[in-house]
This record gives sequence, structure tokens and C-alpha cells, in this order.
Amino acid sequence: MTLQTPAGLGHPEMAATLDTQLENLDLAGRLALAAELGRAVFTTSLGIEDQVITAAIGTHRLPITVATLETGRLFKETVDLIAETEERYGMAIQRFLPEQDDIDAYAAKYGLNGFYDSVEARHACCHVRKLKPLGRALAGAEIWITGLRRGQSGNRATTPFADYDSERNLIKINPLADWDIEAIRAHVAAESIPVNPMHARGYPSIGCEPCTRAIKAGEPERAGRWWWENDETRECGLHVAENAVRGEGEPVVAP
Ligand code: SF4
Repeated sequence: MTLQTPAGLGHPEMAATLDTQLENLDLAGRLALAAELGRAVFTTSLGIEDQVITAAIGTHRLPITVATLETGRLFKETVDLIAETEERYGMAIQRFLPEQDDIDAYAAKYGLNGFYDSVEARHACCHVRKLKPLGRALAGAEIWITGLRRGQSGNRATTPFADYDSERNLIKINPLADWDIEAIRAHVAAESIPVNPMHARGYPSIGCEPCTRAIKAGEPERAGRWWWENDETRECGLHVAENAVRGEGEPVVAP
């Protein structure tokens, strides 16, 4: 890792220092600082928060790789939005797909839609379609930028601006940690940022088609994700410890 760590600072201490620095910057400033630190990768699910970050990267021409996990089970609207966003900002969004051998092995063991039957089967599907491609997307990265916000769910209520991901040995930066959904919507409207039309149809949080439903009035933003599971297991594993995703331990939400 060639991260520009100030002398005497380890990565956890550096993340703590960054956390304070980032708080005092605007979105473009946060992203620019992230890009200065080392090779930075932003992983987008094309959700409304992620579109705000992609727009900032594209508008300010920041040297940040934009990548997405094309799971093979996305809504058509999401897939269409990848191309629309690339055209709008004149950028390439790198697609990371699951391996066909992994999908075949999963289907043989659990059935193609086995994720409804058990938490183990669901985590195994996310492992094949998301976690393994994420590993390829982050290969060689020193900085991982995400669209996590504190207001998205109880699990994310303490999301910092910067954290050390010891599992992947990189600094994770969440430049929208302190934005609420109203601020996100206002920014999208002001900047005419393209977003998934499904948001207007009751889908504030959009993942794979079989695992996402519209929410009802008053429900939390992520209530439509893996709605048949309880709150403790309802994360895809991108932001939890790897062993939890494989069903080998209790989910450890990070941050
Ligand atoms: Fe599989 Fe559903 Fe996870 Fe997508 S969200 S990878 S379909 S279990």
C-alpha cells in the first residue's frame, strides 16, 4: 500500500485524523481530499446518494475510479441508469460481474432463487454476486469511497466520514455521512442529476430486483431490502465483516 500516510501515523490513526478534516469540507472538497491520498475507488449502486457522488466526481473531473457491481439481478431501470450517467458526465463506470461458475455452483446448491429460504442462502448469493466482484473492484485501491449515510438505517447511524477497514486494509471514506435525504433530494433537483425513476415509485433504496420491494408510508428507507429478514441480517455484506456474510458469525456492521 502506498497511501500517503503522515510520518508516525498508522492507518487507524490516519482515519481518525481524516474524520475530523472531512467534517469541515463540502462534498467536492471531501472527494478531492480522498483522491489526494492514494488510488481511490467509488463503488456505486446507482442509488440517489451514489448519483450525487458520481455527479461530483464527473463535474469536477476528480481522479477517482467509479465502479459498480452488476449482479445480473438488477432492475432494468438501474442498468439503464448506468449508461445514462456515463453519457451525462462523459465518464466510464467500470462494471464488475459475478463469475458464471460461482452462479452455477450457487444454483446447484441452493436453487437460483434460494435466497428466500434461509439467511445462509441469501448471504451466499450476495457473496457470489456482490462480495467477490467487490474484491475485484477494490483490488489495488487505497481509498474506498461509499455513499453510506447515517440516516439510512439504525445500523448506519454512527457512520463516520473516514474509517480504517482492517479486513480490506484500506481507508473507507463516506462523504455523505452527515447528509439527510431531504438535502440529497434538494441537491439532485438543483443540479438536475439523473436518478432512478423507481425512487418516485416508493423505492428509496434499490438493490437486486428479487430482493427489493417498495416501502409503505412511514417505513424506514431500507425496509424494502430483504424485507423477509430481521434487522440484524438485512445488509448485503459490502459493509459488514466478510465472515458474517458467509454465515460464519454474527454480522459485524462496519461502521
Ligand atoms: Fe442475490 Fe438478492 Fe443478494 Fe442480489 S440482493 S446478490 S439477488 S441475495
